[in-house]
Amino acid sequence: MKHCCKGFEHHFDEAGKKGISLILTSFSAIPTFVLQFRAVDQVDEGKANPGIKIITSTQAPVHYCPWCGKKLYKVIEKYKGMERDDLKL
Ligand SMILES: [Zn+2]
Repeated sequence: MKHCCKGFEHHFDEAGKKGISLILTSFSAIPTFVLQFRAVDQVDEGKANPGIKIITSTQAPVHYCPWCGKKLYKVIEKYKGMERDDLKL
């Protein structure tokens, strides 16, 4: 798939890995791009549980590509079926 820029492409491909990624997920059943930060890879979450709740990931919806400024609501239709609700926080 052709993305709007290399920054989008790189972070879209980083879904579920530690660091910052851009994923498509749904808020209240509405497809939404979100910036997500993970301290550890999704597959490693909870492996070192010290007995207290530690937030290891967070996310924020984005309406413009953080790297080139493209309006994401104008391209979201072409990502239909690529939602990563398995990564939803
Ligand atoms: Zn872009």
